[in-house]
Amino acid sequence: MNIKDIDFKGKKALIRVDFNVPLDADFNITDDTRIQAALPTIRHILDNGGSAILMSHLGRPLKKLNADGTINTRKFTLRHVAGYLPNVLNCIVKFADHTTGEETEQYVAALKAGEVLLLENTRFHKGEKKGDEAFAKELSKLGDIYINDAFGTAHRAHASTTTVANYFAPENRAFGFLMENEIKNATRALHSEDRPITAITGGAKVSDKLLLLESLLDRVNNLIIGGGMAYTFAKAQGGKIGNSLCEEDKLDLALDLLKKAKAKGVNIYLPTDNKIADTFANDANSKFAATNNIPDGWMGLDIGPESIDTFKKVILDSKTILWNGPMGVFEFENFATGTKSIAEAVAASTAQGAFSLVGGGDSVAAVKQMGLGDKVSFVSTGGGAMLEFLEGKELPGIAAIQGAMA
Ligand code: AMP
Repeated sequence: MNIKDIDFKGKKALIRVDFNVPLDADFNITDDTRIQAALPTIRHILDNGGSAILMSHLGRPLKKLNADGTINTRKFTLRHVAGYLPNVLNCIVKFADHTTGEETEQYVAALKAGEVLLLENTRFHKGEKKGDEAFAKELSKLGDIYINDAFGTAHRAHASTTTVANYFAPENRAFGFLMENEIKNATRALHSEDRPITAITGGAKVSDKLLLLESLLDRVNNLIIGGGMAYTFAKAQGGKIGNSLCEEDKLDLALDLLKKAKAKGVNIYLPTDNKIADTFANDANSKFAATNNIPDGWMGLDIGPESIDTFKKVILDSKTILWNGPMGVFEFENFATGTKSIAEAVAASTAQGAFSLVGGGDSVAAVKQMGLGDKVSFVSTGGGAMLEFLEGKELPGIAAIQGAMA
């Protein structure tokens, strides 16, 4: 069901949001992007006469237990978010200390139209990450309608993201606006007919991106490979890469990928020059070197000017652009030029009419850090979830809503 077609009047909507926000040492929210992203869905339901029961995880409470084996409720409680919500929602926000159970059901029963109840961290329960049926059933008692707006956890088959959906009839479950938007834009990028389509990939490891690269070969015209993973390709082709990042056990796979690209008519663009450093530090000594001739003791931490030029031209000639992963160690100011230049090229190409999606890794942080977030067509909120979507995988959180629609 589409959220817009649901009548929320007098209804209680159980909404899975992603309020897994960063907190400082005093538990103040340091970045409310994820909360802001969920607001349109919550507001829509409240404005249409419904009430909202919000559930989310925060951190990894069962992985980071207190020394005595108990849950660190002080650190991982969603109360940190409960205090913040009235400021941005302008309505009454109540908090349930227990995610499920009788007391929580009573809070839900007393909830009036236009009010919000935030539940305690879903990951305080062992059943959450296991996708446990019993826990999901308990959760399902709390709402008439289930809305999933947590794209960031859509790749996890957890109780609150996936299993719970099965307890709602197809007409009583839907994606929230954020989820809908993510799916719409990622689908557009993957299935675009506006060619040339260029994928820009980067980041640290080939092994993290192999599935992505394979899947992209069936969809794109141009594949740019930068960042740390480019050196595995350089070494596989016989280059001298010094101390640059390399996955020795992926050399054959890298060559295989290049062969497949050729067979499929995909143009591969690898860096030809790099900014190299003598240590892994911002203030390291640095110079430029050809990618296949990096001296011993030196490592490539960014792409060089010649590569930037080549990549830029490809990007500016593209009609659809998909970007995942930085071109270098952009966290070090002295090695951020490559990533910055590529971000600028993506923004410029977007201004010329290209559709651009940035998602699934640190490129999102890079684009935001450079203040170019609103100069590209879409910036995804889901790291791992977007990566898996672009790999062509079915995400359990999406399938659970769609399953019954078919
Ligand atoms: P990912 O999360 O896969 O997008 O990887 C992002 C990380 O890759 C960032 O933290 C970058 O610093 C790192 N990275 C990019 N290029 C390099 C490089 N040449 N050497 C080492 N790390 C790199």
